[in-house]
Amino acid sequence: MKKGLLFGIVASSKTLVRCVFCRVYIPKANKCIEQHTQGVKHKDNITLMTENGMILKNDEMYCKPCKKVVDEEESVSKHINSESHANWQAAIEDLTDGEYIQLESYLTSEKEEAYCEVCKKDINCSLQVIEAHVNSIIHRSNILERLKPLNGIFLVENDDEVYCKVCDEYIDNTVQSVLEHIDDDEEHIDWFAEMEDLIEQQDISLERYLANENEVNVYCKRCDMEIICDFESIETHVHSESHLNNFG
Ligand SMILES: [Zn+2]
Ligand SMILES: [Zn+2]
Ligand SMILES: [Zn+2]
Ligand SMILES: [Zn+2]
Ligand SMILES: [Zn+2]
Repeated sequence: MKKGLLFGIVASSKTLVRCVFCRVYIPKANKCIEQHTQGVKHKDNITLMTENGMILKNDEMYCKPCKKVVDEEESVSKHINSESHANWQAAIEDLTDGEYIQLESYLTSEKEEAYCEVCKKDINCSLQVIEAHVNSIIHRSNILERLKPLNGIFLVENDDEVYCKVCDEYIDNTVQSVLEHIDDDEEHIDWFAEMEDLIEQQDISLERYLANENEVNVYCKRCDMEIICDFESIETHVHSESHLNNFG
């Protein structure tokens, strides 16, 4: 018999096995077990479990976020909707949103750590530790380094300021003021919103423009050509016959 955190079939009696995930008993025959584990309900339960940090532990269904064995009578979906679980889920989503923190290894294995992509390290996945981590100076500045090339922000000779190419504006070189600029500055946000609208599904890439201070063009993958990065030129290009004919 296959084993593993997400297999779910455990011995029950001489003639029956039990699926811990679906709360059902199955005749102890490979064919029946296979039929069950290939079934939609079983697969749906596993999907829900992997999204919610529920694993098989000592032949029981164990919820890592709630730190407890799930009641025998409680189904996966019922547990997920329980107050303690739903509260954890909401809190962790809130804390990790936009923070480049990967929960997958925590949610799908016995590991107690999440992974911070920008700090390149494991962090214990409790709400308190994650909260302290995302607010730490080192994490904030690593986030900033990640966001700069996506936002057209560059270091300048004087260390006190950085330059936003998009807004043609200097900003205090502190983690807080740069993040505020990226998240809250109206001109900055409007430029990105308008630009994204314009190039949506047009195969036009801003990547190099935003990451290189001296780059003046964006790149059209569809036409394999450069276009000056202003709204008018890009708009003209996306409506041009050659671009439209290159479609697909
Ligand atoms: Zn099952
Ligand atoms: Zn739970
Ligand atoms: Zn971090
Ligand atoms: Zn800006
Ligand atoms: Zn084009």
